[in-house]
Amino acid sequence: MPTVNDILDSMDYGPAPEAAGEVTAWLTARAPFGHFIDGSFTAPADTFATDNPATGEALAQVSQGSAQDVALAVKAARKAAPKWAGLAGHERAKYLYAIARHLQKRARFLAVLEVLDNGKPIRETRDIDVPLAIRHFYHHAGWAELLTDEFPDHTPHGVCGQIIPWNFPLLMLAWKIAPALAAGNTMVLKPAEYTPLTALAFAEICAEVGLPKGVVNIVTGDGATGAALVASDVDKIAFTGSTDVGRTIRRATAGTPKALTLELGGKSPFIVFPDADLDAAVEGVVDAIWFNQGEVCCAGSRILVSEAIARDFTDRLRARLGKLRVGDPLDKCTDLGAIVHPTQLTRIRDLVSAGEAAGATLIQPEMQLPAKGCYFAPGLLVGAEPANPASAEEIFGPVATVTTFRTPAEAVQLANNTRYGLSASIWSENITLALDIAAQVKAGVVWVNCTNQFDAAAGFGGMRESGFGREGGREGMAAYLRAPEVKSKPEASAPDFKAMPSPATLASSGIDRTPKLYIGGKQVRPDSGHSYTITAKGRELGLAPLGSRKDIRNAVEAAHKAGAWGKQTGHNRAQVLYYIAENLAARQGEFEARLKEAGHDASEVAATVARAFYYAAWADKFDGAVKSTQSAKITLAMHEPWGVMGVACPDASPLLGFASLVLPAIAMGNRVVAVPAQSMPLLATDLYQVFDTSDLPGGVVNIVTGPRDDLAKTLAQHDDVAAMWYCGDAQGREMVKGESAGNLKAIWAFENRDWRDAQGRELLNRATQIKTIWVPYGE
Ligand code: NAD
Repeated sequence: MPTVNDILDSMDYGPAPEAAGEVTAWLTARAPFGHFIDGSFTAPADTFATDNPATGEALAQVSQGSAQDVALAVKAARKAAPKWAGLAGHERAKYLYAIARHLQKRARFLAVLEVLDNGKPIRETRDIDVPLAIRHFYHHAGWAELLTDEFPDHTPHGVCGQIIPWNFPLLMLAWKIAPALAAGNTMVLKPAEYTPLTALAFAEICAEVGLPKGVVNIVTGDGATGAALVASDVDKIAFTGSTDVGRTIRRATAGTPKALTLELGGKSPFIVFPDADLDAAVEGVVDAIWFNQGEVCCAGSRILVSEAIARDFTDRLRARLGKLRVGDPLDKCTDLGAIVHPTQLTRIRDLVSAGEAAGATLIQPEMQLPAKGCYFAPGLLVGAEPANPASAEEIFGPVATVTTFRTPAEAVQLANNTRYGLSASIWSENITLALDIAAQVKAGVVWVNCTNQFDAAAGFGGMRESGFGREGGREGMAAYLRAPEVKSKPEASAPDFKAMPSPATLASSGIDRTPKLYIGGKQVRPDSGHSYTITAKGRELGLAPLGSRKDIRNAVEAAHKAGAWGKQTGHNRAQVLYYIAENLAARQGEFEARLKEAGHDASEVAATVARAFYYAAWADKFDGAVKSTQSAKITLAMHEPWGVMGVACPDASPLLGFASLVLPAIAMGNRVVAVPAQSMPLLATDLYQVFDTSDLPGGVVNIVTGPRDDLAKTLAQHDDVAAMWYCGDAQGREMVKGESAGNLKAIWAFENRDWRDAQGRELLNRATQIKTIWVPYGE
């Protein structure tokens, strides 16, 4: 007779499948599906199958959206837009509440439908995807209610084109649709081709709650449909998906006024220090990389573990791996379900093999995978060097690399050794160390002693090539609203660079009194050795150095080295800005004379002094927030500087325009490479002494004079420039957006404005990005 110990050892779970009958009946009754346009479903056309990855069987036929379908949907959304935007926030809120209630009523149905279409386990759709989607609609119903108080004078964008991936189909839909509705936008959403079904069920809910027709439109299809939506007559594109497609969309929207947010890929570090609660950290890994089969943009896919505990931790992970259950996603005891599609399975296999070929050892438990369907056993690639393709590429499957580090500094260096910056998870019982690391990692979301925490009230989104923009919370709402219109003001005409004297002319002019560039706190000659003539009202005012690509590169390098500026206290930065204001005021007469000589309004000087005081005042007051998310978790929203910013200044208002952009940027801790007014850069070059005598550390402000658009192009292309502001004409604005696609930097490109009114929170918001830090508390 077996002993109790024998029974405990051999005991296993019995099957506990969730019934799918209601969903299959719905599919039988409803499929094949057309698109949901203007409040009703179109006739199915050009259909393709969406499969159940757990079995390989087709679930339903859906329609491949053509450019005409997209155009029809956009037209319906356009027609519905004025009325929807014109409703009182309270009225819109009622629809969002109704949607949330209906989602709640159909929660089990949606959880099962998502399992069938995506392959993810029912435990996750039931306990995470669907409840979070519901929470998103409730939260944003609240925003609709509060909009006029909290975002006075803001307006919706109009029609939003929204494109989502397959890994959290309903949840990504909620992240897109809830804030867009609350803000008063109408929309056309394209779900991913592998997982369109919950979006179609959601369309039914929109009809059920009586949402005015045309407000939400769903067009199914693949990347071609997505590309058609990007090219269509929408006012904003909100995209979640891969970095490569994000880059294509950045280029495609460059020549348009379309607003853009990009939530892209990641290769997020999961850092375990020796004093971590190792059993908790093991469960953290389960949630980080084996949750949703690792098909998670913010998956902790690079485990960085202190050498001191690496063996112990890996052993514990190995033991835990052996206990994971892979199989029927409808079974409530399943930990990992099916991979979404055979194409994705091939990609995972290829990258894991490449990781092994590059020297890592694959640990995978012995397990029997289901004979049918798309499955991959969870694993670890131990000993993966940073250069290993498995360490660098997003596998988007249930396999993390394991790499060791010796010191906290090395952990940070390894964590940041990626082109992405979506999230990070840090494990240490020493909260001082954990928060110090949280401040240093380049990631939009940081989880301390937890991972993959989400809430509608907290911003989610990336840095670097993980995209720009945030979803959730106040910052997510702001992304669906237009700030009050700023009146544009025509620019002065561009100078004639042919007027540049040849080097011979310069040499013959005797002593070189030409102002220099200002790089790293020093005055330096331009690499070209050339200058150009500054004229005003037909009179020559002097020469300005002709900066080039090389000078921009040097300036970016100098700015990069001045990183300590971002770590100074706001108070210290304020002191420097006060000095700048005082020193400029002391030389006010001199600057006024310069401006008058160039035919500009001399009162710009007093306004610039005032602006320096203004941003000095802000330097220690642009507070972040503590968000109301889950219980027993502190969720911080910290304003972080971008790092190195490129600023191409307006040609008009050569002093005030420059100061209005550079001062808020440095007040927030950024270092700036600025291209001053190209036709009158001499006011900016006169500022060198002001900076030098104001304790501004070298490299915080760098000034390269010359042809704005050539220099802006180099700045836009530069990988080490994290964000760029460009003031100029439509052609230039298009150019910087297109050229920035390489590292997907955030671009603010705008027309010249009246710089007298141009100050305030909008600039501070644009000078910072939000890092969300989650810290749980309680034993
Ligand atoms: P994908 O980029 O291939 O597809 C995403 C969506 O874009 C799909 O709907 C697809 O049809 C559409 N699309 C494809 N080509 C397009 C084009 N040229 N123009 C317009 N639309 C196009 O990504 P995927 O494989 O579906 O999803 C996985 C990726 O999504 C991963 O890189 C993951 O990290 C990322 N992701 C990011 C987040 C986030 O919030 N940052 C969340 C989830 C997923």
